[in-house]
Amino acid sequence: MSTRLGTKCVQGGYTPGNGEPRQIPIIQSTTFKYDTSEDMGKLFDLEASGYFYTRLQNPTNDHVAAKICELEGGTAAMLTSSGQAASFYSVFNIASCGDHVVSSSTIYGGTYNLFAVTMKRMGIEFTFVSPDCTDEELEAAFKENTKAVFGETIANPALTVLDIERFAKAAHRHGVPLIIDNTFATPVNCRPFEWGADIVTHSTTKYMDGHGAGVGGCIVDSGKFDWTKYPDKFPGLCTPDESYHGVTYTERFGLEGAYITKATAQLMRDFGSIQSPQNAFILNLGLESLHVRMKRHSENGQAVAEFLKSHPNVEWVRFAGLPDDKYYDLAQKYLPNGVCGVVSFGVKGGRKAAEAFMKRLKIAAIETHVADARTCCLHPASATHRQMNDAELEAAGVSPDLVRYSCGLEDAKDLIADLDQALRG
Ligand SMILES: *Cc1c(COP(=O)(O)O)cnc(C)c1O
Repeated sequence: MSTRLGTKCVQGGYTPGNGEPRQIPIIQSTTFKYDTSEDMGKLFDLEASGYFYTRLQNPTNDHVAAKICELEGGTAAMLTSSGQAASFYSVFNIASCGDHVVSSSTIYGGTYNLFAVTMKRMGIEFTFVSPDCTDEELEAAFKENTKAVFGETIANPALTVLDIERFAKAAHRHGVPLIIDNTFATPVNCRPFEWGADIVTHSTTKYMDGHGAGVGGCIVDSGKFDWTKYPDKFPGLCTPDESYHGVTYTERFGLEGAYITKATAQLMRDFGSIQSPQNAFILNLGLESLHVRMKRHSENGQAVAEFLKSHPNVEWVRFAGLPDDKYYDLAQKYLPNGVCGVVSFGVKGGRKAAEAFMKRLKIAAIETHVADARTCCLHPASATHRQMNDAELEAAGVSPDLVRYSCGLEDAKDLIADLDQALRG
């Protein structure tokens, strides 16, 4: 039976049989037992599906990944130990030494460092483009060896909204997939596959878990990108994998399964960034209320943004739900049911005033965390983005006075009263 999003949040990914546990069981086992070596051999050859070692696959993780897959409208998904691992695998699965990737410049600081420093060291070159670039500028960023385009639906912490359809069309013109980090929007507020994105990643550490309880990540494949049209660009998917007995992923698993199977069979096997079944269970508790919480987070974000906009001690406010925001039109298109709970703004008086304001907050806590049930607040220039110089900060859309305020699930009136007293000093 086809269901709506809220029902998928509560019940997706796991349907117990007669007499089986109602809640997803935590399979806290590293390994799985077989009667014969031949039975197990088939699993190793990817000829039969089944479990043999939790680094590769675990039933608890698979149920939770299946729920996220349903929420995004994909064909296959995998959990990773963190959002960073998800971002890395999503790109490294199709790009290697000598390849090139186009990325939005306004991405999460950790992702920027992963791409610009660590993956560059691995021989993968990135060209960063503004999400507001012209079509000509976007076009000019592609090279012969470009293998993917990457961006965030709502960028953390710049809060730019990506024109997913425009970036997807550009990627597809060049025969490469668009990978979208959908962490801040979650599938409740935006489903990038409906706008042409091919692969979605998440830091499930944020809204999906939602309670600050477990670090995790997820990758979902739409199954729509036809790798076999570009076998020379994607040899890893379209030619035999000698490290897996000559399996050709697109032939054996089809477009719907090739990308995630390869990421599991090769990257998870070799890098091992698996999520623990315990954490997957906790993540699922968060997912069960994601649709209810995202509504409240988004409403609180809207109310706080409107309050800050009218405050005499606030220099500027960035929130795509404000009618005069630069990204309002894109938000109306891609996020019609609410943006998210994260608002950024500049305190009048710059860096010093921002630091003093942060000290006076009573309800909002200073944390590097974001998108949590409890309101939290951060000054990125002195924390998450401190490795960047001023020009890089500018390109990432983070000014030195920027305060990122992540509305939790508290009463908006209390958050506003707290902000007001801290701003007035
Ligand atoms: C936090 C975050 C990440 C990294 O996720 P971790 O779970 O902390 O590894 C990636 N992308 C975005 C948008 C994030 O907010």
